[in-house]
Parts: sequence; C-alpha cells; structure tokens
Amino acid sequence: MAKEGHKYIFVLGGVMSGVGKGVVTSSIGLLLQQKGYPVNLVKVDPYLNVDAGTMNPTEHGEVFVLRSGLETDQDMGNYERFLGRDLTNDDYMTSGMVYQSVIARERALGYGGKCVEAVPHVRDEILRRIESAAAYNGSRISVIEIGGTIGDFQNALFIDAARVLKMQHPEDVLFVMVSYLPTPGTLGEMKTKPTQTAVRDLNSYGVQPDFIVARSKEAVDEKRKEKLAISCNVPKDHVISAPDIGSIYEAPLNFEKDKLGDSLLDSLRLPEKRRASLAAWKKFALAAVNTKAPEINIAVVGKYFDTGSFVLADAYLSVIEAIKFSAAKLHRQAKITWVNSKDLEKAGPKVVTQMLGKFHGIIVPGGFGETGIEGKIKAIRFARERNIPYFGLCYGMQLMVVEYARNVLGLKDANTTEIKKSAADPVVDVMLEQKKHLADNKYGGTMRLGVYPAYLKKGTMARAAYKKELVEERHRHRYEINPAYVKQLEEAGLVFSGTSPDGVLMEIAELPRSEHPFMLGTQFHPELQARPLTPHPLFTEFIRAAIKRKRRK
Ligand code: GLN
Repeated sequence: MAKEGHKYIFVLGGVMSGVGKGVVTSSIGLLLQQKGYPVNLVKVDPYLNVDAGTMNPTEHGEVFVLRSGLETDQDMGNYERFLGRDLTNDDYMTSGMVYQSVIARERALGYGGKCVEAVPHVRDEILRRIESAAAYNGSRISVIEIGGTIGDFQNALFIDAARVLKMQHPEDVLFVMVSYLPTPGTLGEMKTKPTQTAVRDLNSYGVQPDFIVARSKEAVDEKRKEKLAISCNVPKDHVISAPDIGSIYEAPLNFEKDKLGDSLLDSLRLPEKRRASLAAWKKFALAAVNTKAPEINIAVVGKYFDTGSFVLADAYLSVIEAIKFSAAKLHRQAKITWVNSKDLEKAGPKVVTQMLGKFHGIIVPGGFGETGIEGKIKAIRFARERNIPYFGLCYGMQLMVVEYARNVLGLKDANTTEIKKSAADPVVDVMLEQKKHLADNKYGGTMRLGVYPAYLKKGTMARAAYKKELVEERHRHRYEINPAYVKQLEEAGLVFSGTSPDGVLMEIAELPRSEHPFMLGTQFHPELQARPLTPHPLFTEFIRAAIKRKRRK
C-alpha cells in the first residue's frame, strides 16, 4: 500500500542513456527539498548484480558506498551531493536484489504454494521496495530514477510497477521522461523524431509522460517545443529545455528558471511552501565554473585508464567532485591531470620528474590489484622527497606506508600482501576476518564497508583540519596497516593521526608538518562525504597546501 498522500515522480530515459537522468533526478530532488518538501531519491538499476560492488569501475563507473556500507551506483553519490544528506539502503535497488528477495521468500514457502511469477510477484517486490523507501525519514516525495532507457527489455517490470502505482494513485504519480534531441551535423537541425518514438514506446507500457526534459546541445526553440507537445501529448510548458551546460551544478538553477519545480508541485497538487532557497547553491555553482579563478594543477595517479579518457571521470567521480568543492571554496579552479601509473612504472628519474614535477598536488586514489602499483609508489616517493602535497585515499594510504617502509625504514621488500603474499615485510596485510571471505570466494559485499569512527590525535594535521576528535568516515577495503609494524613506522617518523577507537586499525597516516607540507593518507574514502556546500576538510587542507606550493614555485 502506498503511503497516504505520498507523491512519486518517476524519471525515465528515452532515446539513449547517459544524457543526464541522474542530474535531472538530483536537480528535481534539490528543488523540491528547497521548496520545503522532504524528498528521497531512489536509483533503480536493472542489472542482475545484487549490488555494484563487484563491477569494474571502467565499465560501470565508480562504486559509491553508502553510510550503511551498501555498494551502489555512482548516481547515488550525485543524489547525496545535491541533497546534502545521506541516503539509505532503501533508496537503491537492482534487479538482482529484487529477485534475490523473491527467490529467498519462495524457498521459505513464503508464497504459500503458489506459482511464483515475474508478474505479479517480482513487480510487487519492486513496489514494496519503493514503498519502504517512501516510508523512511518523513519523506513526502520520492523521485525514482529507472536506469537505462525505456526501450531496455530488462526495464519492463520496473516500468510496469510504476504504471500500477499510477493506476492506483492517479493524482500522486508523475512521469518525467528525459530525452535527447540530436542535431545531425549533415542537417544542422535539431530533430524531435527520436523523442516522439520513445514516447510511443513508453505509451505501449500504458504510461504517458507528464513532462519531457529535452536534453540537447543548444536550447530547444519554441517551434520544437510545440511539435513535441502536440505529438507527444504533453502540455507545452511541460517540455523543459535542458541544453548542455558547463557544470551539472548549474542544472537546478536553470530548471528553477524554467519553473520546473513549481510545475511539478502544481501537477502533484501540492502548494509551494516557500520559494526555493538556492542562494548558497548558486554561490557554489558560480565558484565551480569560474574560469577566471587561478588554476591549481593536481595529478591523479591511477590505473583505470584502459578504455579511453572519457571513462576516467566516471571511475573516479567522487574524487574529482571532492577536489572541485574544496577548490571552489578556496576560489581556485582545479585542473586535474590523469597520470597513468603504468607509464610511471617504466619511467626513469628524469621522466618521473617531467611527468610529475609540474604539479601542485598529487593524489593516489583507491584501487585494487597489482596493475601499476610500482608506478604509484614512485609517485608517492617523488611527492615525499620533493615536498609536493600528497593525498592518499585508501590504497593511496596503504602504498604511502609501503613506500615509507621501503625507503625510510630500509625494509626493501616491504609490500602489501595484496601484491606479494610472501613479502619479507608485509606492512599492509589482509584483515583477519577477510581471510575467510577470500578463501571462500565470497567477494560480494564482504569488504570492510561503510561508516566507522576514528579518533584523531592531538597536534596532528588531521585533527587541525577536522577541528574535532571523533570523526566518522566511509570505508571499502580488505587490507589494513599491519599492527606489527606500527611501532617501527612511528619511530621512523610516520604519524598515525587517526585510529579506530580500540587503537588497532590505523585510519590516517601523515608526516609531521615540520617534515613535509602535506603528506597524508586515509584508510577510508573521504571523497564519499564531500558535498558542494560542505567540502571535505582534508581535501580543503590538501588544496590549501597545493596553493602554497604554487606560490612557492
Ligand atoms: N585494495 C585495497 C584494499 O582492499 C584498497 C582498497 C581501496 O582503495 N578501496 O584494502
């Protein structure tokens, strides 16, 4: 049963995917929230993986970890960044999750001897999940994005569930179709036909869009709006033009100009509680696209570079955004350069200097496996010896410790056992409880995931950045700093400035400021909690150090 008076907005894609359904969903969420309605955003992913944790980031983009530890799609990260709050497990579903619940219930005789079928049982489970997300946290409006496009065979059950909800609650459910209007180079004219066809496809499910968000290179003109309105059966003022923009953070501002928020509320028969307060957002969005702000050059040294440069941004999405937020706060624009760790591996000292010497800051982000590892370690050594601000995220912290052990402590065969099981000095080792998971091939959802507390040591950079003693950060890893080496590393000058409350797990490593302007690594992923209006303090300190580096040079 749907929650009494609760409203649902489904966001569906027509024509092709990748044109910004996620941004539309996030923007609608922000607008309605700023107009006084508590909102929750739901991502539906049609694939059969139970969660996103087992997917390669080059193919599917970054794995975004919720506070709870659920490994989800990168869109969830955008949702959280736009709403400025944490989302929950209920806000994410995959076909795999849905089927897993149905099958588990069938095995437990939960269907009382009935034949269990896609319709109605799988569809009902989808509806149950949408309801359970709606029930959470006093939400008044759910905005639900269905991944992929309308035409995808695998989306049929999700669209059918949405149709049923609309049939049962005609006044409470809206459909927003995000479509694409191509302008073929040979014609030089924007075409509406693919959108018309996509609407017809949607109609064949028994669903009529209430709004069409028309994505295109240039703004959609009145003539084409009229054409879409007439042929797609949508009021003209519900055809929203969404041309390409400089940054996704401008989208809600443009939609507000087009009164999308008001029209949605009207259509849902909800009064506007207040004008959307977007002043702080606007200030941030303008700072984020200010091309006049001085540049700061940041190298991200990673390995997920195989499928062409356009995937990079997706594989490290939250890292890029976290850098941008802190740069905008400090009135800088960050220019990010991807450095392939595999190329560094082959490079001699001269080439390493050429490749890295020009940067004001170096980041080694999270990662898995041995590809490009020695290249990352080279980059870390370079940053340490040349006093270039360095920020290591998860793997980037573990490798920072390996580098320190090798080159400062002189433990030449120091390594992480992820790379070399027989290392003479396993300074990074698999966590005890992880050994069994690996032995049993239990990879899905078994890492150390989600939020854990850490205590910060007085007098450290970490403590000064956060300005508090106890922090909570999100994790995703199987390996940790080997406790057997902590004392030695500390004696050699490395400071573990953040630890688990029992003092066993090292959560932050840094060099004292007297030794290096900013050399810090975190076992967690700070980028997952960086938000436009509340940039992450460690990223901000890193960028601050990079600014100083630029000045000194
Ligand atoms: N591969 C490392 C581990 O499992 C680091 C993981 C990461 O960077 N997220 O511990």
